[in-house]
Amino acid sequence: MEGKAVERMESKVVDLAAELVSIPSYEREEELARFLARRLRAIGFEVSLEEVEPGRPNLIAHLPGKGKTLMFCGHMDTVPPDSPDQLRPRVEGGRLYGRGACDMKGALAAMVCALEALTREGPAGPLLFLATVGEETGFLGMRRFMARHRDRIAGCIVGEPTSLEVGIAHKGGAWIELTTIGRPAHGSTPERGVNAVYYMALLVRAIQEELAAALRERPHPLLGPGTVNVGLIRGGTRPNVVPARCTIQVDRRLLPGETPEGATEELRALVGNLKREHPELAVEMRLVQSYPPLEVGTDEPVVRAVIGACRAVRGKEPELVGLSYGTDGALSRAGGIPTVICGPGSATQAHTEGESVDVAELVAATHIYVEAASRFLEG
Ligand SMILES: [Zn+2]
Repeated sequence: MEGKAVERMESKVVDLAAELVSIPSYEREEELARFLARRLRAIGFEVSLEEVEPGRPNLIAHLPGKGKTLMFCGHMDTVPPDSPDQLRPRVEGGRLYGRGACDMKGALAAMVCALEALTREGPAGPLLFLATVGEETGFLGMRRFMARHRDRIAGCIVGEPTSLEVGIAHKGGAWIELTTIGRPAHGSTPERGVNAVYYMALLVRAIQEELAAALRERPHPLLGPGTVNVGLIRGGTRPNVVPARCTIQVDRRLLPGETPEGATEELRALVGNLKREHPELAVEMRLVQSYPPLEVGTDEPVVRAVIGACRAVRGKEPELVGLSYGTDGALSRAGGIPTVICGPGSATQAHTEGESVDVAELVAATHIYVEAASRFLEG
């Protein structure tokens, strides 16, 4: 692209990203979805808003065409602003500041500008642009989208911040609840009861010492080992009663190849070991919520297209990275759509008070998305 055109692209994508930051979307995404809908209708996309919860619609924009469909995806929700200032975007020292600048309104702006460029240059389709709701709170929007629309999508690019490296793996997660069941008795005669807290203490110790150690033995090359954290404990009612129940919730981060069911079974085996020594131990288990891990092969056309685009735009080989956070891409990948993560900004900026994104990365991201789409649709 010539100098003038590069400048125009820069002001366009930065202006749009700033405008998206100024539209609050931390509790309701509707206003932002309507704004994006107008923008995409103007370039010929068929647009629908599908409500996931009241005031919270996914935006689905489709440009029909021949061949395999490429989907661009980003979430519209942000974490809440720390101050009203964060909803007033500003550019300073080559960076755009504001809530969501990095996670991930910058990427949404780059994707929209890329789609505008692609449609200007001629029939690019078939393209899909999905802007989801509720990513920060359990991938609500993507779950709904995948339940209805997964067919006919051959590749997906999620624009979460990777500093424009190529994200091909991240962990999944499962919250698992375990409750030890005892028998209540008066605190003055503890020998008549079964103390659920004592048994939970044994179980917590087994998780900390045995399970955590076992996980460290089987690391993933990009992600390191899976992890376990006992993050919540609740038991008993008062000091002078032998507690009948004690509950913990465990956050288990899953590697590619691991499943919530498998993680639950692993905990059940730990309980089984304890039961051999303490036959009176009774434990209830329940999977509270989960999302899958993501891993995608570098030979997938969408991954090759993004790697090639990064190389062409930035003039160097991108790094293939594992990400430290979960994304909507886990759900699209688990639904059978090859999915790759590539977006402007650093994950260390996400959710911070001074959240910002490098303007040069916003511009580069726009070019990478155009280039990746051209390669994918032609390939
Ligand atoms: Zn995000």
